Amino acid sequence: MRLELVTGDITTERVDAIVNAANSSLLGGGGVDGAIHRKGGPAILAACRDLRAGAYGGGLPTGQAVATTAGNLPARWVVHTVGPVWHESEDRSSVLQDCYRNSLRVAAELGAASVAFPLISAGVYRWPRADAVSHAVTTIRAEAAHPVTLVRLVLFDEATRNVAEQVLGQG
Ligand code: ADP
Repeated sequence: MRLELVTGDITTERVDAIVNAANSSLLGGGGVDGAIHRKGGPAILAACRDLRAGAYGGGLPTGQAVATTAGNLPARWVVHTVGPVWHESEDRSSVLQDCYRNSLRVAAELGAASVAFPLISAGVYRWPRADAVSHAVTTIRAEAAHPVTLVRLVLFDEATRNVAEQVLGQG
């Protein structure tokens, strides 16, 4: 599996599946979630509502992942996952890692060969960026023998990209 760092907007990624840092309601939010729904159009929200009416009546639990259409986006699927909110006195790292692992598993089950991730939990959920990058990279790299052969970690801005380069340089 190849892991690439890119800077930019995940909604423009031409990969089989892009991952959404959703919230457990699955009904949209701010940050990357808002951008995906805005650019992907109403088909994504309709699919999310169907999930809420079916197997995910209580919402999507933190750390889990589920796929929908990608609507008008260049990707084929959106894999929605719910990152943990950063907490100073409670280590929620294993749940953050679950997000990456479960999203890759769901993508592979769909037959996706390429997947793009945002930096899950690093926005509204306040996870420190360097630590978020470190968990993302370590967890993705541990899946080396995965049927998904290309993973892009999409950093939204240059500052986050610089943090990621530093973390990778240390590792
Ligand atoms: P969370 O609630 O999991 O923290 P956010 O969407 O608030 O999710 O932020 C996760 C990361 O995604 C942050 O680093 C944020 O800067 C970034 N981000 C926001 N919009 C986009 C986008 N369109 N493409 C890629 N990354 C984005």
